[in-house]
Amino acid sequence: MQGLMMHRDLRIIDILTFAAEAFPDQGLISVRDEGDLHRTTYPETLARVARLAHALRGLGLGVGDRVATLAWNGYRHFELYYGVSGIGAVCHTVNPRLPAEQMRYILDHAGDRALFVDLSLIGLVEALRDDLPVGLQVVVMTDRTHMPDTAIDALCYEDLLADEPEAIDWPEFPEETAAGLCYTSGTTGHPKGALYSHRSTVLHALMVVAGHPQSLAVGRHALPVVPLFHVNAWGMPYTAPLAGMTMVMPGRHLDGASLYDLMQTEQVYTAWGVPTVWAGLQAEIEKRGAPPAGFEDLVVGGAAAPRAMIAAFEEMGIKVNQAWGMTEMSPIGTRGLLPAALKDATFDEQVDAKMGAGRRLFGVEFKIVDDDGTVLPHDGETTGELYVRGNTVVSAYYGNDTATAAAFDAEGWFGTGDVATVGPDGRLIIRDRSKDLVKSGGEWISSIDLENHATAHPGIRACAVIAVPHPKWDERPVLVAVPAGEARPTLEDIHGFMADHFAKWQLPDDIVFVDELPLTATGKVSKLTLRKQFADYVLPEFREGSA
Ligand code: AMP
Repeated sequence: MQGLMMHRDLRIIDILTFAAEAFPDQGLISVRDEGDLHRTTYPETLARVARLAHALRGLGLGVGDRVATLAWNGYRHFELYYGVSGIGAVCHTVNPRLPAEQMRYILDHAGDRALFVDLSLIGLVEALRDDLPVGLQVVVMTDRTHMPDTAIDALCYEDLLADEPEAIDWPEFPEETAAGLCYTSGTTGHPKGALYSHRSTVLHALMVVAGHPQSLAVGRHALPVVPLFHVNAWGMPYTAPLAGMTMVMPGRHLDGASLYDLMQTEQVYTAWGVPTVWAGLQAEIEKRGAPPAGFEDLVVGGAAAPRAMIAAFEEMGIKVNQAWGMTEMSPIGTRGLLPAALKDATFDEQVDAKMGAGRRLFGVEFKIVDDDGTVLPHDGETTGELYVRGNTVVSAYYGNDTATAAAFDAEGWFGTGDVATVGPDGRLIIRDRSKDLVKSGGEWISSIDLENHATAHPGIRACAVIAVPHPKWDERPVLVAVPAGEARPTLEDIHGFMADHFAKWQLPDDIVFVDELPLTATGKVSKLTLRKQFADYVLPEFREGSA
């Protein structure tokens, strides 16, 4: 027997039409490339999105067409999210930090028909000029006054919208229709495309609103430092309007001082981003002596947050919520532990609990398996590769059968490449990326564990552990560190500092100081680049003159 309920296809545009009605005084505050701060409400945004939709159709774009964006976090980028998907086309967000070669590859692979580019990024398009896909229409996201003098045949965004009507009858289509495309910044081979649907995007927004109630609260201001070009800014352009929040869009200046000033003037309540960004903000807060006024909630994800960072923000009275996820998961898969779960814990216990990746969101399922694919228990101790399943997880990579074949098991679960434990209470702890583990004498050493403890040393500001080849042990860990000040801790200091937490054989064989750690296009520490930089590195015991 079937239920007797209506079926309405889920559409992304319905989030914005809802927000415009339900939260008419909320909206977007954006730092613009033109140099000023722009404010708008959801009703005004909806009207502009309708004009954009007419303009897109005027360019000959429609259902299934891929429309690329090359832009920072700002209101025009937000309009494209809704306008492009609203007409059934696919919003393909391109990461401006990608090397030119990868950018060329994905524009081509996606088969983009138009490219909307921020004023400050037009140089990237000019550099690619001879390699742009044939027929790609470039649109500069600015007004007539600020249109750059460029050799590219480009249209002006505000000109396109100027004479279009402010209302539209949004088309209906099946909810499985593609809406967004984001390529992972692949560590090997070409980037791989995750193609989100209206259904997966709306469900993800609902799941995140339900799963992150402490961060998403009506009338508050939310700052996505995570870029709109990286997995839809973790879905915030959908969750913020759905939850009745105003989004503060930081534009292109993401250093600690710029973020601090913006957060202070715009009363940001919750801010979301990767640990490297929060390291900058943390240093700025320490310099100024107090956090920005009104700042109470920090969501950190994309990479493991060091314990010292979590403790520092918690000590300032800012609640840290660590979320784990992947581009292939829309991306959020977990929520940090809610305050209620931690209310009787000591400060140290709270920080320890927040080191984990939290618990799964409703709709996401976890499976831990060994190398043979045998399912392992969720006992908090047994470590294996984490597989996931759910309505917000990719079912294939876009146009890439080889990558697809390698990513799923026989039952259709997606292999994350993360090595993890899951507790009986559902707590997920990411032990490492399978590629980042160090295998010494047949035993695994977690680079994340070593990094976490080493970063707590007062002499170390940031660090990364990489595996280097060893003739006897296969691999040994080496600590690459950015010093916190003039004094540099010795390897013996570090060993002494970490001795309580590790067996002797797990401790790094060397410490090498660098001025800064290389970052990936999404702002995480790039172990791949580090491994390349250390290709000729020789462990101390094999250096000339060593005993
Ligand atoms: P991306 O697709 O670029 O978002 O990268 C996804 C990967 O980032 C995951 O597979 C994890 O290895 C890592 N990651 C994301 N969030 C966390 C977290 N909270 N803790 C540890 N690793 C994380």
